[in-house]
Amino acid sequence: MPPETGLLAVVKANAYGHGAVAVGRVALAAGAMGLAVATVGEGQALRRAGIESHILVLGPIDATEVDTALQQRLTVTVATSELLAAIQREVHRSLPGAPVDLHVKVDTGMRRYGAMPDLSLALCRRIAVDPRLRLEGVFTHFATADEDDGNEGFAALQAALLQPVLEQLTAENLTPKWWHQANSAATLRGNTGRSSFVRMGLALYGITPAPSLALPDGVRPVMTLRSRVARVFELAPGDTVGYGRTYQSGGAERAALVPIGYADGYRRALSNRGWMGLMGGRADVIGRVSMDQTVVRIPAGVRVEVGDELTVMGGALEEGAPNATQLSDLCDTIPYEILTGIAGRVPRDYWQNGQRIVEPDERG
Ligand SMILES: *Cc1c(COP(=O)(O)O)cnc(C)c1O
Repeated sequence: MPPETGLLAVVKANAYGHGAVAVGRVALAAGAMGLAVATVGEGQALRRAGIESHILVLGPIDATEVDTALQQRLTVTVATSELLAAIQREVHRSLPGAPVDLHVKVDTGMRRYGAMPDLSLALCRRIAVDPRLRLEGVFTHFATADEDDGNEGFAALQAALLQPVLEQLTAENLTPKWWHQANSAATLRGNTGRSSFVRMGLALYGITPAPSLALPDGVRPVMTLRSRVARVFELAPGDTVGYGRTYQSGGAERAALVPIGYADGYRRALSNRGWMGLMGGRADVIGRVSMDQTVVRIPAGVRVEVGDELTVMGGALEEGAPNATQLSDLCDTIPYEILTGIAGRVPRDYWQNGQRIVEPDERG
């Protein structure tokens, strides 16, 4: 990132499954200028945990949520006339005297949440003439930053559509305090423009949004998912494993039961395809992944006992285990979906500089 560019840490979806409160605190302590979430409920949870920072709600909110958003001092993203009108009706509920900061999201091609350029300008003008409101930010979001031509083609077109909006605002003396455009992929490509900050999600968690985009040296996945062997048993030739009997033992094999399943976010698509790290080797999933349990084959010659640790999803340091990107390839999805799918019932433990940070009330 250019030195004058800040970082907004995107902690939506429980910080991509990592735990929004713990990650939010660490990111702010490390210099992030604020946090971004998708929903009012996510912002409220951060406030409840005592986080006082700037919190931007990226997604659309319902008119019935405006009251809570303002009282919790969450910064709302506006892209429709209806939402701006709802905010203007409720704005007296926020702190008296302090204007309410808003961001306007411009649809430059994503066709998701955002206002077309003309409506964006109109919304900015309506915010500017209301003394109770302040236009803090204007932004857009790229549809193809993670694709191979990520800086050219469509992303360049999108950036080129944002530019005249900013120029027009400047000409009308309505320059927002901030403007922003880059997600992780655009940041890794250096496609930040001269924006005030980047909105970084996946890369913060040590995972690249595209295999062709290398992360800086030393950046590695934050999350390691571990379990323990719950039972060790023999399979006789012809024995079948699990629901539907989709795996049949070819000879005398040894198997280990792992108490993790699709309800934990260990996806059923990994049945007979996935593997886990065990004693530095690779233990293949045999049979179907069920809701709460999975069975792996113990590699030949490996001694395993009940209680031994398995690495279900590893970072760079764990031998034998797949990482989130490899698991997502096996499931025909993206690492985002693997990480955000790790269920709430999986306990999170936090380690920083080799020390466990004990925050039992923040698990989840
Ligand atoms: C989720 C999101 C981001 C972060 O995207 P990553 O690819 O995880 O960096 C940035 N901006 C918006 C609007 C988002 O919804």
